[in-house]
Amino acid sequence: MTSALVTGATGQDGSYLCEMLVDRGWDVHAVVRRADEGENPLPDAVELHHGDLLDAASLAKAVRGASPDLIFNLGGISSVGESWRRPELTARVVGAAVASILDLAQRAQDEAGKQVRVLQASSSQIFDPAAPPPQNETSPIGPTSPYAASKSFAQQLIQLYRGRGVFACSAILFNHESPRRPTTFVTRKITAGVAQIANGRASTLSLGSLDVFRDWGWAPDYVDAMIRIAMADTPDDFVVATGESHSIREFVAESFRIAGITDWERFVSVDDAMSRPGDAVEMRGDASKIRERLGWQPEHRFHDVVAAMTRHDLELASS
Ligand code: NDP
Repeated sequence: MTSALVTGATGQDGSYLCEMLVDRGWDVHAVVRRADEGENPLPDAVELHHGDLLDAASLAKAVRGASPDLIFNLGGISSVGESWRRPELTARVVGAAVASILDLAQRAQDEAGKQVRVLQASSSQIFDPAAPPPQNETSPIGPTSPYAASKSFAQQLIQLYRGRGVFACSAILFNHESPRRPTTFVTRKITAGVAQIANGRASTLSLGSLDVFRDWGWAPDYVDAMIRIAMADTPDDFVVATGESHSIREFVAESFRIAGITDWERFVSVDDAMSRPGDAVEMRGDASKIRERLGWQPEHRFHDVVAAMTRHDLELASS
């Protein structure tokens, strides 16, 4: 049985990953920060190890306890906005913590002769927004936030340790969504807001620019991609994306349409203070490499994502 240790297991991707690995018969361990195990919405089969990415000793203890074949590093601050509010913390948890994980993998290999693979959840945010889309593994790097700079540093560490014989790889993830996204992210803010309006509980949805284009995928599809990358014959970095981009305007219109509202403009107000000026106007990934080498392609497209999230929030709002 393959054994995995997952950081960020309580987050959107980590929870899907743990469920998927348990379903596939893996021995799954998770590093969790909260002491109350009842608060962690994970399958019972997942063994919990209390720890924190900021505490290298707790990670070492978790690795000793789990003895994993693979470490999936999905934990950390995942929001660009939050990274501007807490830049130093972001650098430590998103960037420096990856050095601790890679060092543990290297030591397991050199000292105990055990290969521990490392899968790093990297981000499309590392790319230079000035370079025209689509972005692939060779696109210019140009971080524009503490989050992106930390992810970029982490990805360089992955490449550095790969050069030293560690099976380390990065999934360079474009945006991916699900009903498990918090409402602090724009997609879920939209679907939750639309559901409130459809139920007569709110009358306005306030957003930043509607003319930003993003490549939105379905989180479980991306988790499947991470497993493929981690289980590949050779370690490498792969862009994970749908290859399509859609505007926030399209997302909003589609979500309202699913909720049965066509004259949606009257409910939406644009607040320039919510826009992030450094952001790329369009992000769109080219996932040819993972498609050709690992046979991955997204099973869900834009409309499926908006529909699943909106229906979930309509159900929540009416219950
Ligand atoms: P979430 O924000 O949903 O989850 C973040 C997880 O990290 C939570 O489980 C949280 O635990 C944990 N965490 C935060 N700080 C620490 C810490 N100091 N020590 C240990 N764990 C910590 O993220 P997603 O699931 O959306 O994303 C997964 C990964 O993929 C992240 O690294 C993200 O940056 C990356 N990514 C995601 C994209 C997306 O579109 N979703 C796009 C590109 C990259 P707790 O419950 O304790 O707060």
